[in-house]
Amino acid sequence: MNASTRGIGMTSQRTRDRLVARLREEGIRNEAVLDVIRNTPRHLFVDEALASRAYEDTALPIGYNQTISQPYVVAVMTDLVVRANPQKVLEIGTGSGYQAAVLASLVPKVYTVERVEPLAVQARQRFRMLGLRNIRASYSDGTEGLPDFAPYDTILTTAAAEIIPPALLEQLSPEGGRLVIPVGGRERQVLMVVTRNGDCFEQEHHEDVIFVPLLTGQI
Ligand code: SAH
Repeated sequence: MNASTRGIGMTSQRTRDRLVARLREEGIRNEAVLDVIRNTPRHLFVDEALASRAYEDTALPIGYNQTISQPYVVAVMTDLVVRANPQKVLEIGTGSGYQAAVLASLVPKVYTVERVEPLAVQARQRFRMLGLRNIRASYSDGTEGLPDFAPYDTILTTAAAEIIPPALLEQLSPEGGRLVIPVGGRERQVLMVVTRNGDCFEQEHHEDVIFVPLLTGQI
């Protein structure tokens, strides 16, 4: 380790604590989620040129017109996901891989799909480098879900849908499976949780959020 990497290590411990303090102020109360965010090296999920901003509570560009989600949003989504103690989760929109990495510390098995191939490849390399063996990353269109491994206890979408893709509802566990999804147009969306019991789907609305749109059509 040279002096400059040691320097980054020390700064990031302080900046990570600051990020967690800010998330607390913003209303995140789940200590397990806050711990995982403190311990997940977000700087390894962005380009080196942006690493110094990795512990700011802000979304950052990851190329291909996409972004790594804001830590606050990751905390809210993760809190909603882990509340029901899922064993098997599917994420639509791997992006940098950060949200999947956070989930992998709290959930036994995480599946994640991404439709921009270079992002899927890069995320898979990060998971390997970090030894996150309980994540299975695929390159495919998430509006189709991931039927091969369905059903899922929870599905979360980290891109916004104008209409909930029916495949995602079909791939929820019939016994209390939950879909966490931002729904709405380009400007503004509402975070929704849909809970399945048999053929009955119940919706709850959470806060307003802003996500990039879920891309549909051919890859
Ligand atoms: N969870 C990511 C956030 C990435 S932003 C992170 O932690 O970094 C949303 C991602 O969804 C983008 O990478 C985008 O390419 C991807 N996406 C958009 N539409 C998709 C689709 N139909 N299937 C799979 N991924 C999709």
